[in-house]
Amino acid sequence: MLKIEPLQQKYIPQGFKITSWEDIEPFTKELLARPINSLAEYERFLEDESELDALTSEEYTRRMVLMTRYTNNKEYDDALNYYLQNISPKMAEYADQINRKIADSPFADQVKDVGFALALKGLRTQMELFRPENIPLQIMDEELGNKSGKVRGAQTVMLDGEEMTLQKAGDRLFWQDRAKREEAWKAIQGRQFQDKQQQDTIFAELVTIRQQTAKNAGFDNFRDYMFKSLRRFDYTPDHALEFHEAIAAHVVPLVRGMVEKKAKEMGLEKLRPWDGAVDPKGRPPLKAFHGVDDLIEKSTRAFANMDPVFHGTIATMHAEGHLDLESRPHKRPGGYMTGFDVKKLPFIFANATEKVRDLITLVHEVGHAVHQIQMRDLRLQAYGRYPMEVAELASMSMELLSMDQWHLFFDKEEDLKRAKKDHLETLIGLFPMIAQGDAFQHQIYLNPDMTPEERNDLWTKTESRFATGMVDWSGFEDWKRIGWHRVHHIFEVPFYYIEYGIAQLGALQVWRNYKRDPQKTLEQYKAALALGYTKSIPEIYETAGVKFDFSSAMLKDLMAFVQQELAELE
Ligand SMILES: [Zn+2]
Repeated sequence: MLKIEPLQQKYIPQGFKITSWEDIEPFTKELLARPINSLAEYERFLEDESELDALTSEEYTRRMVLMTRYTNNKEYDDALNYYLQNISPKMAEYADQINRKIADSPFADQVKDVGFALALKGLRTQMELFRPENIPLQIMDEELGNKSGKVRGAQTVMLDGEEMTLQKAGDRLFWQDRAKREEAWKAIQGRQFQDKQQQDTIFAELVTIRQQTAKNAGFDNFRDYMFKSLRRFDYTPDHALEFHEAIAAHVVPLVRGMVEKKAKEMGLEKLRPWDGAVDPKGRPPLKAFHGVDDLIEKSTRAFANMDPVFHGTIATMHAEGHLDLESRPHKRPGGYMTGFDVKKLPFIFANATEKVRDLITLVHEVGHAVHQIQMRDLRLQAYGRYPMEVAELASMSMELLSMDQWHLFFDKEEDLKRAKKDHLETLIGLFPMIAQGDAFQHQIYLNPDMTPEERNDLWTKTESRFATGMVDWSGFEDWKRIGWHRVHHIFEVPFYYIEYGIAQLGALQVWRNYKRDPQKTLEQYKAALALGYTKSIPEIYETAGVKFDFSSAMLKDLMAFVQQELAELE
């Protein structure tokens, strides 16, 4: 167990409760009006402002967590909506004013903390992008994103007389009975196609709003606006385009080889879309654990074998009720980790059944949680606001580092090898999907006047750049065109996608280092996480012992490494 001290409140009284904007307002007014006459006063002001930030952020997180855990509880739903509608917009206005006060102070350049300059750069970027007229647009954007999520969340299908979610129906794609797979696949795709019109319309509205948001902030297009907004200080849109090309050149042939082998093992010339997930050797899906208690017990042992901080993180979360991992009705699908900025203890949400995927999801989220734990002593909230390229380095590395402990989950050598091999193959297969989703979004926002049908054609066209040509979609071309409707990122968190690819290359390097020197690699990993966002992304990667590099050469090198690891598992 870790000893975790909550945030020491020096400004806002202990036990302070936020029920409405009126509770927060006196502090915002005081901070905005406070005179600052020395560096000491400025630093005190920064700490006080950060304290208010932590309290409001934790309040939002608390409401969000409750809503996702109990989606049928109206009180929780109302509480979150109240926050989003009545507190968030006022906080956004206040944030802009306070950011200006922080950035414009003559003492700003005298703060000695490592990381303050970077935080200032982030603030100045936010200020540069801030337009009051964009606040309502951003709220509409979020609401439309939620609406598309609700459309997806309401999708169910009937199979064997049972109504089920698409996620559950998707489990059947791992079944050996090919006719049953085809039936399930058609039910899922057909159901999604029913909502085509609705999703196309929502997205068209989103593109209009996003284009307007970018225009208001002085940009030609939403892509360039988002590159700035996502604080992509260390690479440009052209680097992303080169990454897409490198994936087409070095990963797609590898994936093609894997699919060819699979088709051969299954005795097929080409695969059909419902053949992608099934085990080609005819084995049933692997089970990694029996129930959530077993998952927690085994993972806790695995982390104990790896590192005391990793172990302490999961053990403390478990003891404090900060793990909600079981799949049950009235719970939002998916999984996430979120930080509590006052309590300083992370929270993990998941929907675990018994699949290997559920084990990997937990390990991934524990990677994010360790990140929160490592950063807990950073002085200001701003120091912990790392970009996604850093966040996913922590989580994706953890997936690979944990593989040495997977024997705790699989008794048989054959199962263990199969689970590892599946994970590595899935990881390789993700790169083309990431490139496709990212390349698609570049084109969408560079051409905001496209019609919905032109967008659907663009998806098929983009797909062909990254496809293996080994899957026969004939007869289902219309369904294929709207494949992007399934990708919630495109609706809800635009352009957040390529980070997975970039961070995966970092994670593969961490794993390669770990194989050579486990102890040193873990120390480097923890040191990198402890930095939060007080250094640039390349410097954080360097601290982790790896390069921030997604060039063609690096990709090629790492793919050769993964292939060698795969060969050892044969
Ligand atoms: Zn993640």
